[in-house]
This record gives sequence, structure tokens and C-alpha cells, in this order.
Amino acid sequence: MDPDEFRRAGHAVIDWIADYWATLEQRPVTRADPPGTVAAALPAAPPGHGEPVDAVLADLDRIVVPGLTHWQHPGFFGYFPANTSGPSLLGDLISSGLGVQGMLWATSPACTELETVMMDWLAQLTDLPGKFRSSGSGGGVIQDSASSATLVATLAALHRASGGRWRDAGIDRRYRAYTSVHGHSSIEKAVRIAGLGSDGVRPVEADRETHALRQAALRAAIEADLAAGDVPAIVVATIGTTSTTAIDPLPEIGAICAEYGIWLHVDAAYAGAAAVCPELRWAQAGLEYADSYCFDPHKWLLTGFDCDAFWVADRAELVEALTVLPEFLRNAASESGAVIDYRDWQVPLGRRFRALKLWFVLRWYGAEGLRAHIRSGVALAARFADQVRADERFELAAAHPFSLVCFRLRADDDTNAELLARVNRTGRVHLTHTRVGDRYTLRLAIGSPQTAERHVDEAWTLLTAAADDLLAR
Ligand SMILES: *Cc1c(COP(=O)(O)O)cnc(C)c1O
Repeated sequence: MDPDEFRRAGHAVIDWIADYWATLEQRPVTRADPPGTVAAALPAAPPGHGEPVDAVLADLDRIVVPGLTHWQHPGFFGYFPANTSGPSLLGDLISSGLGVQGMLWATSPACTELETVMMDWLAQLTDLPGKFRSSGSGGGVIQDSASSATLVATLAALHRASGGRWRDAGIDRRYRAYTSVHGHSSIEKAVRIAGLGSDGVRPVEADRETHALRQAALRAAIEADLAAGDVPAIVVATIGTTSTTAIDPLPEIGAICAEYGIWLHVDAAYAGAAAVCPELRWAQAGLEYADSYCFDPHKWLLTGFDCDAFWVADRAELVEALTVLPEFLRNAASESGAVIDYRDWQVPLGRRFRALKLWFVLRWYGAEGLRAHIRSGVALAARFADQVRADERFELAAAHPFSLVCFRLRADDDTNAELLARVNRTGRVHLTHTRVGDRYTLRLAIGSPQTAERHVDEAWTLLTAAADDLLAR
């Protein structure tokens, strides 16, 4: 594909995406075709000779798009949002076009330096403690996901807790990780990958009302492990749990970690984006105790997957834990100690130029544009919650500090599951569920930049219509 062919095909592809975004609302959010439908529509073998891009686009419309869940749809309320945006896509396109590898500063200096500055900008924008800035002992890096951030934090914590033995000789003791029973599944995965086994995670009891980690239970778990001769290595606290957006008490957890010398990682994958708004920063009180922190701009900050923003208070510890230096990567800049080599801050060696999409997003929207996006989601969630509260057939199942509302019909689990299935079958909205207090609970999470009052109101209309029908049975 020469540059002119690329230009022609590229214009067609950009048009295709713009049309897709403009027509999202008319599409069903999800379809329920049986497994294998898309695979069966594809040829069994790759083409022997090249085909034009037009032919691929035609099959994209015919085969692929009908098999999609439209995450950018204004009626998509499932899981947490994974919103993208025009500026993010354009920045990513340039990253793909440049195709540079940013594993070392020396392999593309601008790739590293733009990332360092973007992470400092984001730290400023979300008012993080000063120790996370690159001007001090800390700094930020873009990971592919919050899962990777937790893994990397766990490895650095093990390095610290073992006095370096974990890195050089492997696991020599039983090291322990602590998180609330509502901590994300990626924590157990990280602990397993790190070699501690699932038993290495101590699930700590949460408050039954707030769903936040109980500090007394954390202290008791740590004391019990110490008494057994085990080594507490890391506590993962959450701002905005996946199930209900509960907020763990960071000041108390942080004080416990400081007392016992345990690494504190704070996972704010979804809710961290809210801190661009000064009025929502209360949720990160106590963050000054954290050794590491992350949130996902790819969830609620208009930056397409993948973009997890991860900070450490002491970058030397992280680099010490992860660095391996083969001869073929040796270079004068690295040896001078004057540059950052992000390969030492992550699991893979190679890395994409992801700072570009962040740069495009931050410049296009500005702090005020990003705040408007977050505020819109919070206000729409409050509007929906008011409707739930005003209808005595329904109840709220948890607080809604951000843009997630957990609610249910005052009815049994099967009725609530049927309610969810019915509204999703309309194709107009897509909600998912969780269990709160062991009861089936519906989740409505707002985050698409296209979602407006009418979409949230439509969700409520569909829910009440389905409820009328179910309760009349
Ligand atoms: C979504 C989520 C994660 C996982 O995010 P990825 O970036 O997909 O790995 C981790 N923790 C919490 C609290 C989440 O909500």
C-alpha cells in the first residue's frame, strides 16, 4: 500500500468511523446471535491474492458489525464505560502511523518525554500528591490496563518486602496481599502470577452498608499472618469498587500500612477520572499514604483503550524490581542515569506511543471539557437515581457517588434477572448486574459522551414498563 493508496483508503475508513458514530443511536446496543455466527460467516481460508480495502469494509458491515456490542452507544450502561473520542482516535492513528517503539529513551526520546509530561499533567489535573510527579522521586507511566498496574505494584512490593530476595532467589517466605472482598479480580490474578498462589490474597471483610474495607478486619488479618510467620507485602485499596463504586477508607488503611511498612497500592480504575473535578476529590483523601496509584483514562476520560495511568512514589524501587539489562540494550543515555527507560516500569519490553492519544485528548478538551464530561455522567446518574427513589416498587442498592447506580425491584432475584433480560432484549439499552448483600442487583453505569437525558429517561421508561408487566403476573 503506497502513500496514495493509503490516503484514499484512509479517508474511506475515517468516513466509515464518523458514519458509525453518527448512526450508533439507531443500532441495537447488542444482539443475541448464537455463538459461532460471526465465525461461520468468514471464509475458512485467507485470500490467496490481495483484496481492496473496500471489500474489507463491505464485510465489516455485513459480518462484523452485526456481531458487536456497541460500547460507544448512548444506551450502553453495562460494566464500566470504555469510552473513546475523536481526538483519542486521531492521536492513536498517528501512533500507529509512526510505529515507534518506546522501550528505552534512546529508542525514541520524544515517546518517553511526552509520556512523562503527560503523566505529570494528569497528576496535576487530578491533584495527586506531589510525590507522584517526575520532578521528585516518583513518576507516572502508561500501562495497558489497571490489571497490569496491580501486577507491577505487587512485584515492586515483593521486592521491598523481601529485601530484594524475591527478585534474586525467588519466593523464600509466605508473602501476603490484602484487599477488600470487593477488590477487583485482577488482584488475585496478579498475586498468582507473582507466585504467591490464590491463598496469598487475604480477602478482608467490608462494611455491610458502605461496602468499604473494614480497617479493624485489615489489622486483624495482618496481625494473624505476622503471628504465623508470614510477611504482609501489599494492601490494595480501591476508590470505586467494580461492583458498587464503594470507597475504601484510605486515611485509616494508609496509617496501618505505614505502621507495618506495607506497600499500599490504590486502584481507582474507573473512579479516578472523577478527580479532574475539584468537588469529587474528597474520594481520594488519604492518597498521600499510597506507594502506587492508578486509574484508567480508557474507562471514563474519553481516551480509547488501552490507557492506564500508573504512578509510583519511588521509581527507583520499581525499576530495581523489574530491570534486566541485556547487552543489546546498553546505551550511553541509559548509563548516564539522566533518562527514563519505561521498559523497566512494565512487564513487556516493547511499548506503543500511547502518550499521543492522551496529548490529543487533553489538548482538545482541556481541563474544563473533561470536567464537563464527568459532571454530565454524575448528574445523569443522580437523575436516574431520583427516579428509582421516587418509585416505591424499586430501591437503590448502594450509594452512587459517581456515575454508577445500583438498584433493584423490591422482588426476588429471579424477577430482577428477568427484568434485566427484558430491557436488554429491546436492543435500546444494555445494563449488567452484580450481587449486593447477596441479592441480584442491576447496574446502570453512564459514560458514553453521547449519552444524554433522553437516553437515561428511556432506560427508566423501559424498566418501569417491564416492571409493570412482571409484577402483574
Ligand atoms: C475495571 C477495573 C479494573 C480492571 O481494569 P483493566 O484496566 O481492564 O485491567 C481493576 N480495578 C477496578 C476497580 C476496576 O473497576
